[in-house]
Amino acid sequence: NGVEALKIDDTPKVTSKNLDVLKEFEQKEKKNEANFVVIGHVDAGKSTLMGRLLYDLKVVDQRTIDRYRKEAEKMGKSSFALAWVLDQGTEERTRGVTIDIAMNKFSTNKTNFTILDAPGHRDFIPNMIAGASQADFAVLVIDASTGSFESGLKGQTKEHALLVRSMGVSRIIIAVNKLDTVAWSQERFDEISQQVSAFLTSAGFLPKNVAFIPCSGLHGDNIVRKSTEPGLTSWYNGPTLVEELDNSEPITRALTRPLRITIGDIFRGGVQNPLSISGRIESGSLQTGDALLAQPAGEKCFIKALEVDSEPADWAVAGQNVTIHLSDIDPIHLKVGDVLCSPTSPIKIIKEFTAKVLAFEFLTPMQIDVHRGRLHTPGRIREIVSLLDKGSGAPTGKKRPRIVKPAQLARVIVELEAAVPLEAPARVVLRSNGATVAAGLLE
Ligand code: GDP
Repeated sequence: NGVEALKIDDTPKVTSKNLDVLKEFEQKEKKNEANFVVIGHVDAGKSTLMGRLLYDLKVVDQRTIDRYRKEAEKMGKSSFALAWVLDQGTEERTRGVTIDIAMNKFSTNKTNFTILDAPGHRDFIPNMIAGASQADFAVLVIDASTGSFESGLKGQTKEHALLVRSMGVSRIIIAVNKLDTVAWSQERFDEISQQVSAFLTSAGFLPKNVAFIPCSGLHGDNIVRKSTEPGLTSWYNGPTLVEELDNSEPITRALTRPLRITIGDIFRGGVQNPLSISGRIESGSLQTGDALLAQPAGEKCFIKALEVDSEPADWAVAGQNVTIHLSDIDPIHLKVGDVLCSPTSPIKIIKEFTAKVLAFEFLTPMQIDVHRGRLHTPGRIREIVSLLDKGSGAPTGKKRPRIVKPAQLARVIVELEAAVPLEAPARVVLRSNGATVAAGLLE
């Protein structure tokens, strides 16, 4: 009838090199990659300790520290110089608090680390949640000085530890910090370790995933350099903080699972390509020429070229940050938070899910926004299935309670207004009226 059948061009513009990506990876990459979040009470010494770590590992040079020290002395706060390593603007310095999640990278012989810094101020909990949602493990900093530990444990220490655990972080390293203020007392260290262990076990951490390091961030004892303080070496000969960080089990890169990349950014009209995206590969692997499926649009596209950590590359694997130059897709099909996946095992698009969440506010069947990384969608808690025991995760109390109180753990069913690409074990955050009301794991 004169109408020509529309031919869909299914051939990529760039032919694949047909690499065995997993084999390429085996041969090249030997280092583990790990992201961690730093938690603890305000003033526990988190910023100072991380500044010390970066300084002793020579990530920050002496000149920068000297400059900070001068500035700090002018303000009469000389001990703040190390803490400023993690801070960016002068506004934050004058206020003496770290604000946003500062991203900092450092490497040991075994591991490339990213610190997702999390300040302890109450209002900064949302930042910590953002950090926790990307963390492989947590470093909990505890102020060992007399009285501080006791008030800290009742306050943010417990709250933070519960939060990271409820978001699926299973390993925690405890820096028993400022031990210089108690003359390196073993008794004090043991007392703190026992109390914190008991609490962490009740919060669902397994003893084998918990380690304690006696240290001083300010003086640099047992951070990178092994302490030579006789008061400490007489009873402790274990790992330094950095050795313990390196002990973390290799993060199992989900290499053989189906490809998943959440789009973090979209660039249009680039010199190299009119349409490119960036994001972290959550699972699987890819190479130039591969076909991808964009969800929820359900549109197929191809990898024209790619970059790993801003360097041109032929392939990439789970855990790496990539920029992908795409072909054969209209930008209207892509938005930040969408998922690029393998067309043969695509991610499901769902309108309802069950999650195990820790409540920060009262929860009832109510309107909420579901956040998952940069994806967020309006929805509502349709049903509270049950309350859960924090240690075992088993249901407690009566079925279908009407309300969840702050600090309780619960299983809830969430209904979304629009279908989104989401699958277990995603870490989700529920917000209402601009406040975080719960956080946890999709089941
Ligand atoms: P943050 O709020 O947890 O980030 O704590 P900061 O790093 O800002 O430290 C709070 C205060 O504790 C500052 O005055 C630090 O100089 C002090 N401080 C931090 N670490 C140590 C330590 O190991 N020993 C002693 N004596 N003081 C410390």
